[in-house]
Amino acid sequence: MTTVGILGGGQLARMLALDGAPLGVRFLVMDASADACAGQFAPMVVGDYTNESALAEFASRVDVATFDFENVPSESAQWLTERIAVYPNPRALGTTQDRLAEKTLFRELGIPVPPFATIDTRAQLDTAIADIGAPCILKTRRLGYDGKGQFRIKSAADADAAWGALGAQAEKVGLILEGFVAFERELSVVAVRGRDGEFRTWPLTENWHVDGVLSASLAPATAEPALAETAFGYARQLAEALDYVGVFALELFCRDGELLANELAPRVHNSGHWTIEGAETSQFQNHLRAVLGLPLGATRMVGHACMLNWIGAMPDANAVLAEPGGHWHDYGKAPRDGRKVGHATLRAESPEELAAGLQRVGAALDREAQVAPVISRLHGR
Ligand code: ATP
Ligand code: MG
Ligand code: MG
Repeated sequence: MTTVGILGGGQLARMLALDGAPLGVRFLVMDASADACAGQFAPMVVGDYTNESALAEFASRVDVATFDFENVPSESAQWLTERIAVYPNPRALGTTQDRLAEKTLFRELGIPVPPFATIDTRAQLDTAIADIGAPCILKTRRLGYDGKGQFRIKSAADADAAWGALGAQAEKVGLILEGFVAFERELSVVAVRGRDGEFRTWPLTENWHVDGVLSASLAPATAEPALAETAFGYARQLAEALDYVGVFALELFCRDGELLANELAPRVHNSGHWTIEGAETSQFQNHLRAVLGLPLGATRMVGHACMLNWIGAMPDANAVLAEPGGHWHDYGKAPRDGRKVGHATLRAESPEELAAGLQRVGAALDREAQVAPVISRLHGR
């Protein structure tokens, strides 16, 4: 039986193992923490990917390796590639784990991006704020997730505070300054590319973030077909340029009807969790099909879907379970502020039915603010 190794044992690895089990494969997860939540379903190697003996044990027990986490150093990914099949390839991982390399690639491919500049010194920050203009965002080039490692600059007077917060990171992980995009919406393309180059996308998804963390996703997004085609085209160009194999998500801002690329996540993505119940084939199943060289499944939607993230602690499940199209995902994690501990997906035959279900769930769980922007969109606002 084939064993798929997953570097990183969080909820993405857990859902890969749960959704991949019917394919008749085994999983082995490697994570530094013995209570990583994927370990509840898959055997684990406890160890850090920078530890060569842990990595060697992992490599000796798997046939193909993939990631639940984009920050595996490219040296570790390269080391593995010399021993076993690894998807996505280390170059794709290396490019997308560095915001500067990633944005440079977007620009080379003609994909619009917000203005950006690399920042190594305090003086460069002043120059870049003057060039790009405020508001803008200072971000670490590497290792950021869920909006961590970011500082929003409202005016040039915030430069000291921004440098105070992130200046120490300049040497370790690099910094980048980006223009702040006053977007009307955030969209993502979740896409998959097979080993043979076959490329598919799920319908465009609209996303809402709170404090830099994904709060809700709606699919299909209510976008013009031409806008979706442009977004899918960008995703395909990137997949081909990186010789990408597996699932990835391209995050986009939409401003004045134009798309600007934010980042590419080289893995299954939170904005694609709705595909478990809302699509013919989920992102998790198709990621595994891709890395195993199997035919890809259809990505068409089954109705309309909205995913709600549970951050910090799980709410009561009953309100969601009582919905005809309600689905519950508890990641089995200990509650902690800001931590993604689970999600729910509501699925319905029509936008009106989906809005009604969201209204009921929002009221029952006292989460009106979380569902409100999605309901407005479903009502065509
Ligand atoms: P993720 O968890 O998606 O990997 P991350 O830490 O890599 O998050 P980003 O995606 O860069 O961070 O930013 C998180 C959110 O902050 C974005 O989804 C968006 O809502 C907001 N944001 C980031 N950059 C910008 C920008 N240049 N202009 C406007 N909003 C931004
Ligand atoms: Mg990111
Ligand atoms: Mg992001």
